[in-house]
Amino acid sequence: MTSHLINVAGIDVSPHHYIGGSRVASPESFELHSPIDQRLLGRISEGLPEHVDAAVSAAAKAFPAWAALGPAQRKIFLDRFAAEIGKRSEAFCLLESNDAGVLLSRMKHGVVPRAMLNISWFADHALGLQDKVIETEQASHLVRHDPAGVVAIITPWNSPLMLATWKVGPALAAGNTVVVKPPEWAPLTSSLLADAADAAGLPPGVFNVVQGRGATTGAGLVSDKRLARISFTGSVPTAKWIAQAAGQNLVPCSLELGGKSPFIVLEDADLDNAAATGALMYRNAGQVCLAGTRFLVHERVADAFVERMRGYVENLNVGDPREEATEVGPIIHPRQFTRVKDFVLRAIADGARVLWGGSWHPYGPQYFEPTMLTDVRQDSEIVQNEVFGPVLTLQTFRNDEEALELANGTDYGLGGVCYGEVGHATALAERVRTGFIWVNSFGIRDLAAPFGGIKRSGIGREGGEWSFEFFCDVKDVVVPKKPFRASFSQR
Ligand code: NAD
Repeated sequence: MTSHLINVAGIDVSPHHYIGGSRVASPESFELHSPIDQRLLGRISEGLPEHVDAAVSAAAKAFPAWAALGPAQRKIFLDRFAAEIGKRSEAFCLLESNDAGVLLSRMKHGVVPRAMLNISWFADHALGLQDKVIETEQASHLVRHDPAGVVAIITPWNSPLMLATWKVGPALAAGNTVVVKPPEWAPLTSSLLADAADAAGLPPGVFNVVQGRGATTGAGLVSDKRLARISFTGSVPTAKWIAQAAGQNLVPCSLELGGKSPFIVLEDADLDNAAATGALMYRNAGQVCLAGTRFLVHERVADAFVERMRGYVENLNVGDPREEATEVGPIIHPRQFTRVKDFVLRAIADGARVLWGGSWHPYGPQYFEPTMLTDVRQDSEIVQNEVFGPVLTLQTFRNDEEALELANGTDYGLGGVCYGEVGHATALAERVRTGFIWVNSFGIRDLAAPFGGIKRSGIGREGGEWSFEFFCDVKDVVVPKKPFRASFSQR
């Protein structure tokens, strides 16, 4: 193992791959900068074809023994893995806050505990993956959930630790081995995850990390014929490339993609509660796939709602994500900042009116003001396309049917929020075409519940039994109840 480490915020972390239980450096590397102040954090190893090949080979070699261990033995390793993540809690928080700009407070109270749970919860629940038996008059069908093989895991930059563990947990618990390709703009916590796996004594090759950029390293990984599954979270354009590559080898893919989710406020909503939740959509500088970004508000309460939400937004604490009190941090990368700014400029040129925000925030070069645009057409770019920044739109409606038409009128279908009298809001929520929707709430998640999108927001579901369905090969072993005698007249 090479001893070369980089130091970020007092934390030593490897910038290299982790393949077959060892750190592997690359002759090529790329720069990593912090979104907070643009300082250089270090150079990260670029995954070349030989690294991708070595990682998949290591995972393939480790697979038979890991699969053969069974869920109870794997749970011993995975519980240790979760504990090792916990031991590095502060380091995980500091690294992701520095490389991705995620709020330190959110890392501490939300992401790291959840990352541990992502590993231990699935290890526990794999124990219950008992083989199901279907009894018929003719036969017993012993339905098995077998591990599938080597899984490629590709994650985006907006929540890299949470999303990596959300896939690694069920994949490993089910008996697969994994190769993780972290996001190039936020690679550090996945590297630290390799340290935790190593300290937990996971057998070499069970957990591998190959750093690198999407179009090169990522594309190489998803083209590998030896993969049994590809689990991807990221944008729609990338998903199309991945689906094409996977299609060449007929590798099943799980695709968790972008969103343009409605935030519906009915006439009978508790406006203050809705407005307080509305301001939460600026969390992580709006770089949250499941945020409700299209506000659809009943015309009779629109002015009152706007004034209440304005009050909450004006009090948002924009600043350094490493400070406890900060509520809105930076945009991940200058390229993403430009993308967000250009979306807003084009929307204004197209007739949108700024209710608040609308431009660069003086806190720093990669900060954008929490923004709300109104007077937007349903067919306009700002309503139809994901911005992935602190930019929301507001439209009004006259009745439930119009609300539904607007809510369902995009190519996306990830999440949604619906505020109103509970019966009314629930009835409407049931008719919104989406993967999930919160009634009078936001962000309530449980590992047992299904998560994922419809339409362009994705293919497949993660969570609970849905994760296991994806990461396992289901097989029917048929045992006849009466002696079987071959006959051509048999049906
Ligand atoms: P992205 O699609 O640009 O990149 C995601 C990952 O894919 C990165 O690791 C990248 O290196 C890799 N990649 C890029 N090109 C590739 C290729 N050709 N082959 C293989 N891998 C490749 O997405 P992003 O900008 O990092 O993340 C933001 C997007 O992710 C947004 O659209 C957001 O909505 C989405 N997202 C969705 C969810 C969800 O659960 N549905 C969660 C978080 C983020």
